[in-house]
Amino acid sequence: MQVLKTGAEWQKIWLQSLQSQKIIGFVPTMGALHEGHLDLIRNSKKSNDITVVSIFVNPIQFNNQEDFDNYPSLIKEDLALLEKENVDVVYLPDPQSMYPEKPVLSMHFGDLESVLEGAFRPGHFSGVGIIVSKLFNIIRPHQAFFGQKDLQQVAVIKRMVKDLSFQTEIITVPTRREEDGLALSSRNLRLSKEERDASLILIESLNLAKNELLAGKDWLAVRNQIQQKFEDEPLANLEYFELINPDNFQVIESIAQSKASSICVASYIGNIRLIDNLPIIP
Ligand code: AMP
Repeated sequence: MQVLKTGAEWQKIWLQSLQSQKIIGFVPTMGALHEGHLDLIRNSKKSNDITVVSIFVNPIQFNNQEDFDNYPSLIKEDLALLEKENVDVVYLPDPQSMYPEKPVLSMHFGDLESVLEGAFRPGHFSGVGIIVSKLFNIIRPHQAFFGQKDLQQVAVIKRMVKDLSFQTEIITVPTRREEDGLALSSRNLRLSKEERDASLILIESLNLAKNELLAGKDWLAVRNQIQQKFEDEPLANLEYFELINPDNFQVIESIAQSKASSICVASYIGNIRLIDNLPIIP
């Protein structure tokens, strides 16, 4: 496994891999790796000759300084995990080389970011779009792997790839969960025992709402019921619980309103902000 700090080092390997017609898979991450990240890596290894994993905590996608300052960093453990997965290349750029200057560019994704994460985290998707563009320009992968857990991020990146003609295929990988249903997330490391217990409210609410919807209950009644459930949990502070059309990320009020539908949730548990989603009709 090669650990690279600069794009120039990768450029040499990239040129050689091109000559031998190797297909490159790429998994961008912010580290503190868990089985969800490893699923993306295993998928990449299945369909690519070379798998590159980046670890970079991207400052410009955080709209909350405290969240950035407290984001877990476990480089030694991460590298050991990646070695075990037989990853070919790890790209570990430092912030100074990635952002010699604060970018003046910003990206806007129109209706795709007018709700949910886009609405609650102003500037977040601009930061995501800029870092993913930079990484795609440096790595030039044939395929890149993203988790369904960040559903709106996948929609934004697919659109960016289309609008900017990136020659990278975007592959979405299903959400990996703990046995009790909690979606794996690097931020889970920061949950206390009580908060970990309380965090199950996300997946329990998603499952409950899905069952109620499929049993024919009206969405607004379902959402009221869920909002009450969150109000009854003192450690939870709900930001949104919305039914959306995953094709255009528009909020809908009935599963009959679009061909596909998913429910998306974001809630603070204590000081930790967690998100999750569940397809209702895939
Ligand atoms: P992050 O390190 O949180 O920026 O995530 C890096 C990639 O891993 C993103 O594409 C995430 O959507 C994906 N990811 C995070 N958690 C999970 C999970 N539980 N299951 C599958 N993919 C995930």
